[in-house]
Amino acid sequence: MWVGFGGGHALKYEAGTSGARMVTEDDCIRALREAAQLLGDSPTKAQYENLGLTPAASTILRQCGGWNDAKRLAGLETNHSRGSRVEPKPDGLDLPDGIEWDELSQDQRWHYRNRERNTARSLQRRRRLRLWVNEQTRERGCRECGEDDPACLDLHHRKPVEKEMEISTMVTSGYGKDRLRSEIEKCDVLCANCHRKEHYERPDLRTTTGVRLVARLRNTYKS
Ligand SMILES: [Zn+2]
Repeated sequence: MWVGFGGGHALKYEAGTSGARMVTEDDCIRALREAAQLLGDSPTKAQYENLGLTPAASTILRQCGGWNDAKRLAGLETNHSRGSRVEPKPDGLDLPDGIEWDELSQDQRWHYRNRERNTARSLQRRRRLRLWVNEQTRERGCRECGEDDPACLDLHHRKPVEKEMEISTMVTSGYGKDRLRSEIEKCDVLCANCHRKEHYERPDLRTTTGVRLVARLRNTYKS
């Protein structure tokens, strides 16, 4: 069914060797498959145009609603999915509840596969950075007691105003070692116990008095 498009054209004709005739969806599909066969791959619009096949790419776009839509109709891989056409679900790929791999579109399968790859890659990077940060804290040890097991060592910003970000957040966000190093330099290494003591506030002071008084008393207790 052809319902026309902008500019008042009711039908689209394409010149061919046997004279002008109406371009159908089947023509588009046939041409796309031919292009895929010639290229040995699902054609991009530019690749298709270079082959000089008919119907023209612009006609396919109008007829099928979009390049990927046309390729989906032809059973070809879309831009967002590469590799074999009906690839099996990769090992270890977790899908959200209620989502079946076989029922996903090619684009959706690409999305989940790629998300998995990105996650694995970024996890690997995070692991490396975390190990590196652990090494930095182990070498310095707790400022107060000398504890050097990274499992219980924290990085404590000496001056809150200097703090750009928690080191752990930087690791999770994938910051490079240079940025991490300059942030770590603003920190003291404290074990969990000594860190707790560092931040400890007497509850009675917090709940019964004004902020200014609390601050003054806190300074008194610290010195
Ligand atoms: Zn300590």
